[in-house]
Formats: sequence, structure tokens, C-alpha cells
Amino acid sequence: DALASGTATGTATHCPYCALQCGMTLRPSAAGPGLDVTERPDFPVNKGALCGKGRTAPALLSARVRLTEPLVRNRDSGRLEPASWDEALDAVAEGLTRAAQAHGRDAVAVFGGGGLTNEKAYSLGKFARLVLGTSQIDYNGRFCMSSAAAAHQRAFGLDRGLPFPLEDVAATGCLVLVGSNLAETMPPALRYITELRRRGGTLIVIDPRRTRTAEQADLHLQPRPGTDLALALGILHLVVADGRTDEAFIAERTTGWPQARAAAMAHWPELVERITGVPVPQLRAAAAMFCDAPTSMVLTARGPEQQSKGTDTVGAWINLCLATGRAGRPLSGYGCLTGQGNGQGGREHGQKADQLPGYRKLDDPAARAHVAEVWGVDPDVLPAPGRSAYELLDALGGDIKALLVSGSNPVVSAPRAAHVERRLRALDFLAVADVVLSETAALADVVLPVAQWAEESGTTTNLEGRVLLRRKAVEPPPGVRTDLEVLGALATRLGWEKGFPADPQEVFDELRRASAGGPADYSGISYRRIAEEDGVFWPCAEGSEGTRRLFLDGFATPDGRARFAEVSHRPSAEEPDADYPLYLTTGRVLAQYQSGAQTRRVETLNKAAPGPFVELHPRLAAQLGVGDGDPVAVTSRRGRAVAPARISRGIRDDTVFMPFHWPGEGRANTLTNPALDPTSRMPEFKVCAVRVEAAT
Ligand code: SF4
Repeated sequence: DALASGTATGTATHCPYCALQCGMTLRPSAAGPGLDVTERPDFPVNKGALCGKGRTAPALLSARVRLTEPLVRNRDSGRLEPASWDEALDAVAEGLTRAAQAHGRDAVAVFGGGGLTNEKAYSLGKFARLVLGTSQIDYNGRFCMSSAAAAHQRAFGLDRGLPFPLEDVAATGCLVLVGSNLAETMPPALRYITELRRRGGTLIVIDPRRTRTAEQADLHLQPRPGTDLALALGILHLVVADGRTDEAFIAERTTGWPQARAAAMAHWPELVERITGVPVPQLRAAAAMFCDAPTSMVLTARGPEQQSKGTDTVGAWINLCLATGRAGRPLSGYGCLTGQGNGQGGREHGQKADQLPGYRKLDDPAARAHVAEVWGVDPDVLPAPGRSAYELLDALGGDIKALLVSGSNPVVSAPRAAHVERRLRALDFLAVADVVLSETAALADVVLPVAQWAEESGTTTNLEGRVLLRRKAVEPPPGVRTDLEVLGALATRLGWEKGFPADPQEVFDELRRASAGGPADYSGISYRRIAEEDGVFWPCAEGSEGTRRLFLDGFATPDGRARFAEVSHRPSAEEPDADYPLYLTTGRVLAQYQSGAQTRRVETLNKAAPGPFVELHPRLAAQLGVGDGDPVAVTSRRGRAVAPARISRGIRDDTVFMPFHWPGEGRANTLTNPALDPTSRMPEFKVCAVRVEAAT
């Protein structure tokens, strides 16, 4: 049985947090109740290394704040009070039904998460579209990787975060990391960079902050926030001017070069220096390092992606790869470092507003017909694409009256968070399924306590497109149900008679059929194969080995050629001005994960990173009369946040940085701008204009 254990002495599984999905073994603790984490040196991605989040992951299983019984809001007292599962599920069914009957099916919405397993993401999408009949479903992954996904699709015809395994990163000649602080966000991945440099490869890091990752670099470029697109075009300009393009590759394997070339030539180095603040000699050094290496890669993360021009920004970096013949060839190419635990799989199986399982498009008649047949319904039953995550949240209390949230905490993680919180409060009905009383769950009418990573089985797909098996290691506490059981029980109450499997392996088998023939084809993957091979790369059609490396024989576009993007620099939606003279950029710290709903409740992690801070340059601190640790107020057009100053020479003096893991007065997302990328609908988390002053 693939789920039985995985090792003779423990349960082989994967970390519940980031997209690296490190392998680990869980064993009953020698020190008492609970589980111990031990390393799995044989797992090829992290080779035994784990960060503090992974090492402490079992702590949340037995945390005192763990929810172990459903909560229903008492209408008289206004408080959440313990209830039976029947009472809670009846209340959810009633709340959702009442909204649909009074205002139509699209008055009910679903908000999912990029940490949900493939089986849960698949079931949530099916539940929304078939049982609720609503088009209104999206998820927090829209805030995470959607710009890279859109750019990947546009250029290559297929989006898999990394089109090659991580081992290739260690063997490339020059690695460009754009807006990624992987030393803090996924530390075990640093081993690939160490190996790259040991082999003589070079590392360029592009980040407005001198992060722990940037400290490893041979060249660190520190552009103004929101100018990565211009930076890429400036480097491409120099590559063209120096005659270092690969004309044979361009002619044979791409389309659209004349327009892309013209756009790059309009971004001459001195102009790019003015836009980005990066001196021309550094641009020249980057172009030379990239071209001098026999192979090169560009990997982006949230820095260039979480912008209102994120898709075009990623497109500009892809253009650089294409113009130099550094894509679709061994040890070269473009990739995205996905963030959330199932950031890759979570976007492939139908919880995204515009997609069906297998990464099929909801507005494609053939895709609708295929999935409808697997689901045993008429294709006309399937709703049209719905709104993107921020647009959906913005409509709460307007035409959306009831919401079901699973695996997400938008009160902390959404942009313009105070507004989103007000929209959540304006709903007629809110139900939240979670493991703890998150800030979003605290607003709910009904809270459903669900099982955690080590208490149930399921698959995730890591940043390489490697489908992995998380095995159940312990029983959930009494009073807790799995998300799949919750969806099944709700489906029954809402009159769905065709069954809604609660067994993850049964769901996966249905997912395989639904994905068969689609871009993300899982039909050849089974729990048994994953167990035997320690992960299988998609696309993997029935009878196939899986695909470790994409695009070597051609791109996934209709003509097999990659498409250059015609892109030009444009300012961010909000640039500094007299009233708000500084840039704010946001990000993560080592000991916390996403909205912190899980990691803030793990004592060791909380001690390591107990609260938010405002990172600022000593010159700016001196101007403001602020010392290290003094409270500072950061104000944007959307609100005000207060947190202690952290003075650092590593940040530009026109920029302040805040991590976004905390609620309350230090909530960074109170400040962020929900201006959306026109293609991906990604909000501009990484750039907005703020005023900073000493807080009194
Ligand atoms: Fe978990 Fe990511 Fe840390 Fe690995 S790097 S242990 S997957 S949080």
C-alpha cells in the first residue's frame, strides 16, 4: 500500500509549508506524545536539509490553540460558540442556500488556497461549479504566482514553475535570481547555489534589498522597486548592441523578435540607469556575465511578479533568455520559484477562476466537454469564468452575499487588507474551514475545524512540477474532519446525489481522468508510482515516464516556437510624490510563513520572529530622527501601520520594507495597493508609495 509508511522506521512525507516540499520522516516522539521530524537524506530535492519551519511543523498538530470542535456564531450574544458537526454543517448549507435563493447562484463564492493538496483543490473547484453552481471561485495563489504563470503561458504555451529539476540550477553557468530571497524563504535550496558556485558558475541577484541571498551573489543589482522590467530591457539592449544574440535560435525557435528587439533598443543604458537607479557599468557587467557563461538561467519570484505589470516584467526576462538562446536547451531557461506548499498543483486543478482540472481553460468548449463527461454532467451546467481573487473579495457584501473560505487568511494576506476585512464583515454569511481560529475565521458565522497535513493523505506538486505524496502519520484529534469529508457532507446537504468522495486516493483517480489529455496531464501518475519513484513529474500521460525537462524538443505553442513579448517600461500604479515620498515593498522572513496563521502559533518560530518591523536605511532613519527599535508609522493612501524600526545599510534609502505575516497595527497589507496586472490580475504587493514618520 503506497500510503502505508514509506520507510521501515517512520512515515515518509513532506513539509506542510513552502513549495520546495522538503522530504521528511515522522516518528512517534521518544519524549512523549506527538511526532518527531527526522531527515530524509535520500529525498532528492532537499537531501535531508530542513529549515526551522519544517523541523517544528509537528508542533501545530498538538498546539493548544488548535480547533477541535465546530463553532457557530450565537445570534444573540454575537459570539462563536461550540456546536455539533450536524449543527455546523446545517448552518453552512442554510447560509449558502439562503444567499443563492435570494440573490442567485453567483451570490455565493468560494475562496481557496495554494496550500491545499491537489485532491482538495480539485474537489473545491468541483464543489463550487457543480454543487453550488457558482462561477465565483478563486484562491490566494492568485496573489502568489499568477503573473509568472501568465508570462509562462504566453511565451512557452505551458506553465510549469521550473521547466527543469532543481539539480539543473546547480549545473548552469550563470544564474540570475530576480526578486527572490530563497535564503530566507526556502533555505535548503541554497545548496544548489553553493554547488553552482563550487562548479565555477556565477550568481546575479536583483533585489532592492541586500538580502541574505544577495550576500551570496557575484553581482547584486539594487533597482528601485517596480523597475525590474526596465532593467531586463536595459540588459537585453546591451546584449543586442554587443552582437551577442543567438540569431540561429531566434530564427528557428521563436516568433516576435523584431518587435521585442525594437522595444529593447528604445531602452538605452543611460535611460535605464535613470529609471532603475542601477549604474550603467553594473548593467554591462550583468549582460557580460549572462552571455559569457556557456549556459544561463533566470529565476523570478514574487519581486517582479507582484506588480501591476508583473506579466510583462516576467516577459522581459524571458525575452532575455530567448534572445540569447538560453531556453529550451539543457541547463538553460526561465523558471519561477513558486511560493506556497502546493502553489504549482493548486493552480492546476480547478480552484482558479478561469480553469478546470488539468490546467484546462474554462472557456474552451473541448475542455468543458471533457471535464463534464468525467463529472457526469452536461457541459452547459459548468459556469463561465469568475472574478479574480481581489475582485472577488472586493465584491463581498455587494453582489456576493455568502462565502466559503478554505485554507486562506485574506484578513492578513490580501492587499488593502482593512478594506477586505470590511468587505468580509459586510457578508450575510461567512464560513471558514481552518485548523486554528485565524483572523478570517474569527469573523465567520461558522468555523469548521479540519485536519492538518500529517493527519491525512494527499498529493502536492512542488516547484519543479514533481508530484509528491504526503502520507498520514497520525489520526486527527476527535472532533476534527478532513476538508474532503466536509465537502462531501455539505454536498449531500445541498442535494448533490452523485456522491462526493472523501477518500483522497479515490479523488486522485478522478483527478487523473479529468486531467487526461490536458496541459497538466496526471493520468499516468498513481499513488503507487509516486511512492516507488519518490515523485513523478507532469505532464505524465498514461504509460509515460513523466517529463523532467520541458521544451527541449520544442515549445508547447501551436507552432512549437516560443513567443517574444513586446513589452516596455511603465511606472508602477503608485509612484512616490510629495505626500507619499517613499517606496514600500513587502516580503517574508525565515521563521514565518504566509499570513502566519500556522507559524505564529509555533512557539520556537514566534520567538525567532515575534513581530513586524520596518526596515529602513540609516540616512532615512537619521532624517526621521528614528533609532533602531523605535516605533515608526508607515502611511499609504489606504491606511497606516506601526512597527519598530530596523535600521539596515542593505536597503535603498528611498525604500522601506515590511514583512506581511502579522495582523493588527503592524499589518503590512493595510498599506499595499490592489492595482491589478491586466493579464494575471495580480495585485501590486511589491510597490506602493508611503510616508514614514516617528510614531508617537
Ligand atoms: Fe518546509 Fe520549505 Fe522549510 Fe523545506 S524550505 S522545510 S518545505 S518551509
